[in-house]
Amino acid sequence: MLVAACKLQSTDRIEALLNEGHRQFGENKVQEAMGKWPGLKASFPDTELHLIGPLQSNKAKEAVALFDVIETIDREKIADAVSAEALKQKKRIMCLIQVNIGREPQKAGVSPEDLPALVAHCRKLPGLELKGLMCIPPSEEAPAPYFALMRKHAKEFDLPWLSMGMSGDFETAIAFGATHVRVGTALFGERKIS
Ligand SMILES: *Cc1c(COP(=O)(O)O)cnc(C)c1O
Repeated sequence: MLVAACKLQSTDRIEALLNEGHRQFGENKVQEAMGKWPGLKASFPDTELHLIGPLQSNKAKEAVALFDVIETIDREKIADAVSAEALKQKKRIMCLIQVNIGREPQKAGVSPEDLPALVAHCRKLPGLELKGLMCIPPSEEAPAPYFALMRKHAKEFDLPWLSMGMSGDFETAIAFGATHVRVGTALFGERKIS
């Protein structure tokens, strides 16, 4: 599945892709998505919108209302907030756990050590449907060993979805079992400088 990562892309470019029949899109920021997507989703209701950037609990309500998939669950607190909101809004939201597979201090995601506990926790939450794992490997290293580790984790927990690979490495990611790649610049061209 190709998820078109459309942060900082114009609505015109997004609409062009929608008109060609593409339906999977990813946004990084709840606020930015709220400016573009309510209108676009009204015109293209079968769109599947993924949140691929970090989520704060105070945005859980808006995120659950707008997104179909949240790819960036990385701690119990945010999982609890999303599940509670989903129940309030009477929906069940598909989620992925973001794994900090390179153990980078500046990067979001649960550490591989803490992944088993978070998987178990998410599976107990009635508002969440845990579908799989997501990662962004270290940018300065060859991604293949990290993709291989992610595939191992997904298998270990019997999770069907694996979101990994961006413009620079999606072919490698697919070779290592990605079910979803998140591609921005290779699809849209350069992002606008904001
Ligand atoms: C921007 C972004 C992408 C897409 O990156 P490109 O290099 O433009 O393909 C993928 N995943 C996440 C989480 C992103 O923020």
